[in-house]
This record gives sequence, structure tokens and C-alpha cells, in this order.
Amino acid sequence: MFGSRRRRERYANRTYRRHSGFRKIFFFIIILLIALVFMRAKGLREIDDVSPSIPCEQAYMDKANILWVIPDYNGTSIANNPEWCQKIIAMNKTLGLHGVTHNYDEFQGNITKTQMEKAIADFQTCFKQTPTMFKPPQLKTSKENLELIKQYNMTYKGSFNQVIHKVYHCDNTGKLPNWFHNIF
Ligand SMILES: [Zn+2]
Repeated sequence: MFGSRRRRERYANRTYRRHSGFRKIFFFIIILLIALVFMRAKGLREIDDVSPSIPCEQAYMDKANILWVIPDYNGTSIANNPEWCQKIIAMNKTLGLHGVTHNYDEFQGNITKTQMEKAIADFQTCFKQTPTMFKPPQLKTSKENLELIKQYNMTYKGSFNQVIHKVYHCDNTGKLPNWFHNIF
């Protein structure tokens, strides 16, 4: 085999084992990164933090397949913005529920059934559909809240989903800038 003589020589020098372990990890990481870039390139794109009170570049909304909507951000309920709702519906994208008020990592704290039902009701009023997917702000939720989300038959999307997809953010507030997701 090609390179076997070099390998034999390394064995003789007792450096083979050490180097080969190192290399295996290195190549494993490289292959993982290539797979990740490939998955992200082929997969659906998303945009987080869609709200009538957050500026959002239309170009990124157009590129996204899934829009993650905050139902009641900064005291602006989507239910009271029928014009905005109409504009979003007309874009013909898949819509998901993104938190309740998006108050930092609110789903790590105490979220009541009433809050959850208000968020779902606002979503229904706005888009004439029931949310089937949920993504928590900061991608963090407690066990109790995860149970609550599942009670309303919503699929949970967390950190893993975020890593394997290109996810833009309205107002470019993501950990990585929107342009990064365009490229990788
Ligand atoms: Zn968010």
C-alpha cells in the first residue's frame, strides 16, 4: 500500500501511534465540518425574530423557508397588526412560534399555560393557522416548559436544528451575522 513504508518507519520510531490518533481526530473534525457545510447548503433556511416591531431585511425573509415569529414582542401583539399578518401570509412561507414575548431566555423561567395559550391564540388570529413548530428564545428551555410545548402538539426546534440549518436573524442579531449564513 502507498505510504506503508513510511508507516513502518514511524512504527520503528514509536511515533506512529501518537500521530495516527491525532490525525484520526483531525480528519474526523474536517469530515464533520464538510458534512455540516453540505447539510446547511442543501437544507431549508430559517429566519428568527420575525415581529412587526423588529426591522427585518426583506432579502433574508425571501431567502428563508421558515419564518420564526415572536407573538408579542415589546408589547406589540401580532394579533393587533392585521396588515402585517397579511403581508407575512402573502409570502407563503412555513411559520413557527418563537417564544412568547422573547424576553431573553424566558423559557428557562416560569411560563404559564395562560401565556402559552395567549401566544398560540395570537398566532391563530394573525395567520389563520395553528402553530405546529416551536423554537424558544436563546434556544433554551426548562424540562417543564418542554412538556408544556409538547402538550400543544408543537415540534420543538433547539440548538441542534440551529447548527444544521442556515438561520438568519431579523435585525442581524444572531451569534453569527446574516452574511455568514449566506456563505456557509
Ligand atoms: Zn430569537
